Amino acid sequence: MITAATRPFALLGNPVQHSLSPAMQNAAFGAAGADGIYIALRCDPDGFPGLLRGFARAGGGGNVTIPHKALAARTVDEPSGDVLRTGACNTFWEEEGRLRGDNTDVAGFRAAAVTLLGSLAGARVLVLGAGGAASAALCGLLDARADTVAVLSRTPERAVELCHRLDPAGRRLQAATGLRLAREGFDLVVNATPLGLHAGDPLPLDLTTVGRAGAALDLVYGADETPWVRHARELEVAAADGREMLLGQGAASFERWWDRPAPRDAMRAALFGS
Ligand code: NAP
Repeated sequence: MITAATRPFALLGNPVQHSLSPAMQNAAFGAAGADGIYIALRCDPDGFPGLLRGFARAGGGGNVTIPHKALAARTVDEPSGDVLRTGACNTFWEEEGRLRGDNTDVAGFRAAAVTLLGSLAGARVLVLGAGGAASAALCGLLDARADTVAVLSRTPERAVELCHRLDPAGRRLQAATGLRLAREGFDLVVNATPLGLHAGDPLPLDLTTVGRAGAALDLVYGADETPWVRHARELEVAAADGREMLLGQGAASFERWWDRPAPRDAMRAALFGS
């Protein structure tokens, strides 16, 4: 029941209508007996900072999605280490009058990749895309002691800049420009582009053009398996879509807001229907 004590949470972004976060978080709140409500609000950059502070000040908080994660990182009073290194904030709340921000995409990516591969230690990985999601994925891969990560981007300079920023010595991250993929083997290939969100999108990568792909993790999600996940499974490559990462980041967000373990089974059921 919604009462005067109910804590308000919101997903802030544009667009937001495709998001599964409200279904997942409201299921979590219900299963945990947490007195909160979670909605999705489409907002522009002008209205965004006020909403961010308003929800947090009202005793709640929320998540941030495209295109406001970088603006959120600049707006919060207390950014976490993951916000500082990725330059993106996807989770916010207030503590002792201070607006706090975290980037739980890092933990969410890592949880999804571990679910698929078992362990990332020593893994050789190819990441497609060099935007915010790729940045979170690279941090997760570095934290989990992946061996080397190649980054392939439509705009090669973005891959070079991202690798240099996160691994200035160039020991474990490298832009994949010039890499002859047919000769390369990867334990994991990650789609961190939006390709697959819209009907008619090309595949982010034809996996038959890679020497070896052990597994494929698509960060894009929809109600069903994505075209790239279907493509991978047709080649008998183990694959998961972005719902695994959504679950991981959502569980970590829940734990920031409520300071107790997230009810992952209820969240998984809300996303996967079982
Ligand atoms: P972003 O910051 O805008 O970066 C997108 C990246 O994809 C850029 O490198 C961009 O290249 C590239 N790209 C865009 N359109 C492309 C195209 N048509 N062909 C090739 N490359 C293209 O976006 P983001 O925040 O990283 O998000 C990327 C995707 O991850 C989104 O679909 C988002 O929904 C998903 N995501 C999922 C989760 C989850 O929990 N499952 C969490 C975060 C994000 P340019 O630099 O050349 O533009």
